[in-house]
Amino acid sequence: MPGKKTRKTAVSAPQTKWADHFRYFFERQDRMVKTICELVRIESPSDNKAAVDGIARFLAAKFESLGGSVRLHHSNNFGDSLQVDFGGTREPSTNRRPVLLLGHYDTVYPLGTLAGMPCRIENGRLFGPGVLDMKSGIALMLHAIEALQEWHRELPRPVTVFLVSDEEIGSHSSRTITEGLAKQAAGVLVLEPAAGLRGAVKTARKGVGEYTLRVKGVAAHAGLDPGKGHSAILELAQQIAKISKLNNLPQGLSVNPGVIRGGTRTNVVAAEASVEIDVRIRSAKQAAGMDRKLCSLKPFDKRCRVEMSGGINRLPMERTAGVAALYKKAREIAGEVGWKLEEAAVGGGSDGNFTAGMGIPTLDGLGGVGDGAHAMHEFVVISELPRRALLLAGMIESV
Ligand SMILES: [Zn+2]
Repeated sequence: MPGKKTRKTAVSAPQTKWADHFRYFFERQDRMVKTICELVRIESPSDNKAAVDGIARFLAAKFESLGGSVRLHHSNNFGDSLQVDFGGTREPSTNRRPVLLLGHYDTVYPLGTLAGMPCRIENGRLFGPGVLDMKSGIALMLHAIEALQEWHRELPRPVTVFLVSDEEIGSHSSRTITEGLAKQAAGVLVLEPAAGLRGAVKTARKGVGEYTLRVKGVAAHAGLDPGKGHSAILELAQQIAKISKLNNLPQGLSVNPGVIRGGTRTNVVAAEASVEIDVRIRSAKQAAGMDRKLCSLKPFDKRCRVEMSGGINRLPMERTAGVAALYKKAREIAGEVGWKLEEAAVGGGSDGNFTAGMGIPTLDGLGGVGDGAHAMHEFVVISELPRRALLLAGMIESV
């Protein structure tokens, strides 16, 4: 068997159901790679509706061929999001609520990125735009569902897949649908990338806020009337210094003025300037305080006006009892094939923040293992795919 040396568990694990299931995925590793490549080669930047709709239709056909009933949620301004329902067994004894598999097919890469960043394999790593975040996660869904159908003839329980079109830009068109589906679910499994190369699942995520501070000053000719101007840029600079004092890393609070704009020409005292700010919070309790501080900024120069807009978009995913119980289950399944599955708390937000924020048990980071999300060197580790698929299949069965 190729790769026998690198994957000891495939040959040395006891002859249990889990060892059989692991072998099943191990033998299909190349097929999983092929599926991931198919998805990576369909570029799908969040802000290009036609492109995102293209991958939505491709995936709709894939899930339909597995017997799922497919529904595209139309959006005018964003790509369409894809819901797929699998009925599962009708036996009354297993009349269970669906498990929700959550993910997104939009990426941060503009059309054409593929030309300079092709889908390719090097040293056991699969590279390409969106390969880790999170096209490998979608491929894992397809292969886990297919496997469960083969093992049980039909799915052992109802499963809903929801793939959104706009996660990388705040999930504004899909959020209410995600929340509605989560409400009906026994639990939510999020196929975002694992944390780090050890493949930890994510049991806590920070909350995320997006704010914009706009400053209006008074324009004047910088040469003829310098004293008459009130510079929006100068005011903004002072505001940014003040805002950055809100950073409190030991408490998990961070504030990043990431984009600034302002002014028209060097010889004009700037009438307008603005900054876009990314805010991260560790606990829901911190949201109101941070929001109040940001929205109550007063101008240093009385002739300037400052106006803050935006807010906390995703509340933190906190490690509630429900989240911890899902992690415990996942660790047990991993343990069946001699794998010590770790957990991690991370700074990035996902749609799992929405569902966890509603109190629905949510486990995130079940997708591919790799590095470089949103960067040119984005990759997944190919040899990790079989056990990730095994874990997902096990979780679908037992949540
Ligand atoms: Zn993602």
